[in-house]
Amino acid sequence: MSSTWHILGAGSLGSLWACRLARAGKPVRLILRDQQRLVDYQRGGGLALVEHDNLRQYAIPAETANANGPIHRLLVACKAYDAAPAVAQLAPRLALGAELVLLQNGLGSQDEVAEQVPHARCVFASSTEGAFREDAWQVRFAGHGFNWLGDPANPSVPSWFADLHDAGIPAQWALDIPTRLWRKLALNCAINPLTVLHDCQNGGLLGHLAEVEQLCDELVGLLRRCGQPDAATDLHEDVQRVIVATAANYSSMYQDVRHGRRTEVHYLLGHACRAASRHGLAVPHLERLQQRLVDNLRSRGLRSD
Ligand code: NAP
Repeated sequence: MSSTWHILGAGSLGSLWACRLARAGKPVRLILRDQQRLVDYQRGGGLALVEHDNLRQYAIPAETANANGPIHRLLVACKAYDAAPAVAQLAPRLALGAELVLLQNGLGSQDEVAEQVPHARCVFASSTEGAFREDAWQVRFAGHGFNWLGDPANPSVPSWFADLHDAGIPAQWALDIPTRLWRKLALNCAINPLTVLHDCQNGGLLGHLAEVEQLCDELVGLLRRCGQPDAATDLHEDVQRVIVATAANYSSMYQDVRHGRRTEVHYLLGHACRAASRHGLAVPHLERLQQRLVDNLRSRGLRSD
């Protein structure tokens, strides 16, 4: 089986993973959106990673989904709303026993991807690393963090897992990956939409703690109803801890809105509200929050789905 890492989506996180794997001598190929993006990439000569203000360029080979050749190992690094359609394009190239790593934030996109490739193994990731695009093919490694990877359908550690260690990508195999993804989703629901609505940094929510508490109460009930009691443990305290620890930061949703980009709300607050409705659980504060956010996004001319 080929050990090449195909990276679908050379954006912030995809480039960060691609450059570190390439730096460690692992075979890497980028899969770009279309021919125009490929020509543009090739003109630039590769991907650049800026770390501690040091810039280094990596001439990583790239192709589009239409290229030939089987794919055995695929890192899906698109936004949650792009992941399933992007993987569907590649489905004919996936080899028997192919393995996918899904980097998407939130929940729901993982199942959408798995539906496109029922015979492939899908490994879910939850990342606290931070990166952003400074230029077309240049990414800054902005926040050191950690990655948890796991497969709810299969506890065995994949054969390629040691590649991450070799590449200096901090990672641990997590048997409780659904719990971790739910916890991160709950933290996001309690913080990110409010930072957009109140137009503030995370720390600005210290002035709206009653509102945060109401959301946490409903989120705890929802997590328990969804069979995720561990994700509910000490949620209120953790949300307040995150607000204080990241007081000077702007949330990812706030940044998406500020830059006029589509948000991943469908896979975050939207997923929470859909799960509550499926379980017949009343979550009036979360639903009201979603409606206010949708109205806010629409008033800015942004997609709300
Ligand atoms: P991003 O910078 O917007 O990158 C997404 C990339 O996917 C873009 O380069 C885009 O191509 C590409 N793409 C979309 N559809 C494609 C297709 N059909 N074929 C090929 N490429 C395609 O997003 P990101 O910030 O890396 O986020 C990726 C995921 O990681 C998100 O779910 C995010 O929440 C999560 N995450 C990100 C961070 C972070 O610090 N950035 C941290 C934790 C989690 P174009 O360049 O052509 O638009």
